[in-house]
Amino acid sequence: MQDGVIAWLRAAAGRVHEQAPSLTALDQAIGDGDHGINLDRGFGAIVAMLDERPAPEDGTGDAAATADLLRQAGKTLISKVGGASGPLYGTAFLRGAGAIAAATDPTAGAAFVAALEAAAGGISALGKSAEGEKTMLDALFPAARAARSALDGGGNLAAVTAAARDAAAAGAEATIPMLATKGRASYLGERSVGHQDPGATSAALLLAVLAETAAANSTDPAAATA
Ligand code: ADP
Ligand code: MG
Repeated sequence: MQDGVIAWLRAAAGRVHEQAPSLTALDQAIGDGDHGINLDRGFGAIVAMLDERPAPEDGTGDAAATADLLRQAGKTLISKVGGASGPLYGTAFLRGAGAIAAATDPTAGAAFVAALEAAAGGISALGKSAEGEKTMLDALFPAARAARSALDGGGNLAAVTAAARDAAAAGAEATIPMLATKGRASYLGERSVGHQDPGATSAALLLAVLAETAAANSTDPAAATA
């Protein structure tokens, strides 16, 4: 599981870097135009952390090592990202780490679903925010629900991450007609309507990269086309 998380974080950093201008453009429309810059800085710092990180000691369980890795990634985001998204995503990683450490069902699909649910809940608690307020939660909560139902239907990691990806993409698009009531975009009132939320867009991007990573690492041939 740890290797998969490392592969995801590295691929996510690459995609965030590539998409930083478009995330920033979205934030220029309804915020202060720094979302892409913020995430690029944060994920760049995560890659630097991964490069310097010693290999886990023998005997460290995979779930514990994965949780530790996610915890370090979360702390990196909190310390390196200036905008609201740093503490919010950082907390999501810390909560996700906690869920993986506590997971009773060790399958990767179940651990992912528990982590995603905890992550969304953590953002909601820190941001005092809920679905429908035009934030990253409008991608993450639908993604968590879709992942849970794919898991309940017997889906493996590739299937549950694909379900999360699709729901997050739809959720991000569904923020366009919403009125922002949290974060900087809420200062615009009605003028926030008609623009896609940058944080919901980056959340969908991170889950898209995760689904790609899971499909690439899957031994199930059907997953390659999921
Ligand atoms: P800042 O708003 O400080 O400039 P960013 O531009 O990096 O930070 O991130 C903006 C994104 O953060 C928004 O698009 C939104 O998705 C998310 N966000 C802001 N406030 C909240 C909140 N209270 N709860 C959930 N998400 C939020
Ligand atoms: Mg901003």
